[in-house]
Amino acid sequence: MEFYDVIIVGAGHAGCEAALAAARMGVKCLLITQSMDKVAAMSCNPAIGGTAKGHLVKEIDALGGEMAKAIDHTGIQFRILNRRKGPAIWSSRAQADMHLYSRYMKSVIEGTKNLHLRQDEVKGLVIDESSGRAVVKGVETSIFGRFLANAVVLTTGTFLNGLIHIGDKRTQAGRAGDAASTSLAEFIRKYGFRVGRLKTGTTPRLDAKTIDWDSLEAQHSDEEIIPFSFTTEKIKQKQIPCYITTTNEQTHEVIRSYLHASPLYSGTITGIGPRYCPSIEDKVVKFPDRLSHQIFLEPQGYNTCEVYPNGISTSLPVEAQIEFIRTIKGLEKAEVVRAGYAIEYDFIDPTELSASLETKKIRSLYFAGQINGTTGYEEAAGQGLIAGINAARSIQGQDALVLSRSKAYIGVLIDDLITKGTQEPYRMFTSRAEHRLYLREDNADSRLTDIGYNIGLVSENDYEKFKERQGILASCLNYLKNTTFAQAGITETYFVEKDNGGSRLEGLVRRPNFSLDEIADNEFFREVPISIRRRAEIEIKYEGYIAREKKSVRSTEMLDRVRIPHQIEYGKIQGLSNEVVSKLNLHLPETLGQASRISGLTPAAIQVLRIHIHKTRLENSISP
Ligand code: FAD
Repeated sequence: MEFYDVIIVGAGHAGCEAALAAARMGVKCLLITQSMDKVAAMSCNPAIGGTAKGHLVKEIDALGGEMAKAIDHTGIQFRILNRRKGPAIWSSRAQADMHLYSRYMKSVIEGTKNLHLRQDEVKGLVIDESSGRAVVKGVETSIFGRFLANAVVLTTGTFLNGLIHIGDKRTQAGRAGDAASTSLAEFIRKYGFRVGRLKTGTTPRLDAKTIDWDSLEAQHSDEEIIPFSFTTEKIKQKQIPCYITTTNEQTHEVIRSYLHASPLYSGTITGIGPRYCPSIEDKVVKFPDRLSHQIFLEPQGYNTCEVYPNGISTSLPVEAQIEFIRTIKGLEKAEVVRAGYAIEYDFIDPTELSASLETKKIRSLYFAGQINGTTGYEEAAGQGLIAGINAARSIQGQDALVLSRSKAYIGVLIDDLITKGTQEPYRMFTSRAEHRLYLREDNADSRLTDIGYNIGLVSENDYEKFKERQGILASCLNYLKNTTFAQAGITETYFVEKDNGGSRLEGLVRRPNFSLDEIADNEFFREVPISIRRRAEIEIKYEGYIAREKKSVRSTEMLDRVRIPHQIEYGKIQGLSNEVVSKLNLHLPETLGQASRISGLTPAAIQVLRIHIHKTRLENSISP
């Protein structure tokens, strides 16, 4: 029988990051997945990043993950979203050639030392209960049989008991074209994990040859592209536009006429869907006053005719899909290559997990990705990275890596999941973070790369590049603070009107409407990469706010540092209500910070807990 340190189940976005992280940290890994042709497949939109998701990708990169490098190699249109708003929410997004993306990730995985691959289906887990507490010891598969391991990471996405709906047609599937994972789902339910049902949906795919492109407005890449990865110097591949169209009253009329045949409205679908990413039938019903909805026609790659019409996810019968699509400008003759569909699937209540993503029920078993109730490639990848790191660290006898809410969006994501759970597919938003002016995309490397390097994930080469960037940033800040307008060769009246002769550039940068882009061809900045120029500008413009935020970060971190002893008996603590005790027993928080974020835990209850922990520590330290 084969033995590994870590087994990762599923080669989706969570599984790839988990496997690469663990293998790169030096432990022997096995990645088992249902199809080796679908590694890092994009089940829905062919894009990486977007609001708050871009932040996650940059953090994954800063810690030594792969997603940012993958999209930098395979992106076909890069844009920074929200540039007219504050820098906290500037977010990178890139459309991908989804086939190249998958091939890139597969080749990285195939070339990684310590990482072994099997195409197979995991049907159950090997559990040892002899020590009194359940411990995972391996997996049972359909074809190769049993594999043993010290830790197992499950990243099965939408596959557990997946059920696809198109009108009244229902098919068991993990996603279109892939079998559902039913035996593993049954195993998980039998083992007593709290399991719920969620739903998500996708759009029909259209044939590019049948779209009237000339009638539509094009949207192009940014002129100056900032890559996702801090280590990518330049995006070299050709960029291609996407096109914009909209639904109209006639489209909505057709959709209304088919609502009786929608599984969403006939009550066939019971799982809860993503509120912020509704199907087109949902948009038409819930926003009856809106006369149109925007659609982005996104090519799925360079060498495919399939186009992803972003904004019209649907599970209406296929004839309804064709009919409403042909009411849309530019799509009058469009042919549907693949039908849109909705999928319902099992997820595990993430409050069953500790902050390391290890389950509380079964030791050395980790869950990551959509199985935990999230939606999105980036949310999955962030969790996968942490689960892979922690599985490896547990084998190496090291403490788990837990990122706090004030350190990273990945920390916010995991903390939200494990302390609050989720009733609907969880998507990251910048509004979920308390310290969002500090948790920006541009400084993810300063926040996290030292951690990634110290745990053995960031390579020497990438760490050298990080140090070099830090040096360039420091010299930019120094230049802005110490250089006068005249020394910088700035003479235009527009810039110098308020200059008293000795004004420094930093004063100019602080002006609300000034951007360093305006002097990007100045002798100093000509050699500075755009990402560092923007970072320097933010650091100066928002210096006061950032300093205040850092102060508040320190006070949040104090609560997170107070660990709650494992043996604590909440029922015996005077001053805690029955409701609070039952919530604490359900969630089993690891720190006072986590406890404070459980809904219903009042500041008074946290104070009682704090005093109890303090008193117990004092008594223990003075007891003979
Ligand atoms: P996945 O990428 O699903 O990967 C799971 C992997 O596990 C697969 O490789 C599978 O083969 C493997 N696997 C499963 N069971 C087993 C088993 N028993 N043995 C071996 N291997 C197994 N996200 C958005 O952000 N926005 C959207 O609008 C959106 N719409 C979606 C629509 C649909 C129809 C689907 C299916 C997904 C959608 N998503 C959307 C979600 C997005 O695809 C997922 O969030 C993301 O892929 C999750 O990554 P993951 O790694 O957790 O799982």
